[in-house]
Amino acid sequence: MHRSYVHEARKRVGPKRERIRPVIERLAAAHPDAVIALRFRNDVELLISVLLSAQTTDVTVNRVTEQLFRKYERPEDYLAVPPEELEADLRPTGTFRQKARNLRGAMKVLIEEYDGEVPTRIEELVRLPGVGRKTANVVAAERGATQGIVVDTHVRRLSQRLGFSRQDDPVKIERDLMRLVPREDWARLPHLLIWHGRRVCIARAPRCEQCVVNALCPSSRV
Ligand code: SF4
Repeated sequence: MHRSYVHEARKRVGPKRERIRPVIERLAAAHPDAVIALRFRNDVELLISVLLSAQTTDVTVNRVTEQLFRKYERPEDYLAVPPEELEADLRPTGTFRQKARNLRGAMKVLIEEYDGEVPTRIEELVRLPGVGRKTANVVAAERGATQGIVVDTHVRRLSQRLGFSRQDDPVKIERDLMRLVPREDWARLPHLLIWHGRRVCIARAPRCEQCVVNALCPSSRV
């Protein structure tokens, strides 16, 4: 896109500080069902579901965990079977050897350092094998202990299109969003952007004509 056109578009929609609240409100009205799609019953299951969701769909994870959580009820149970057995149970989620290794490693740390509980602080969560900042943020937010903003591929793309960040690196995008977004919206914003990204602001062909924030978006094609 031409630079002057981008400049004009930014001028047309106004500063991001004034747009952020109406954008959140409109997206919340358009996607009232925007919550985490993973199914879990407790914090350990939440952590495991998020670990397994890398490079696959939530539907696949839910299908796998339905059986998995029946078979393995406590962190110890994942260490009580041969590694190959757990790998076979995780196979449909892809990269299953690595996921099994991380999952066992994470359960070992939970048992040895946290009495089998999942820690709350991001700094502690990212020390668990296989847990990066995104996973840690998802887990913390779902437990009501939000400390950052989840930036996945949808959040990254929509933050850029909506002119909320010019960065490419998820950590820098998160930093921009944390400065911009009111703290009470840190947990729900990623869900709204993820659902809007799946349904409307699709990567290859955004449906700008059907988009409830097209009047507030500098990338709108309408
Ligand atoms: S107007 Fe278009 S580019 Fe902007 S958020 Fe909506 S769908 Fe995405």
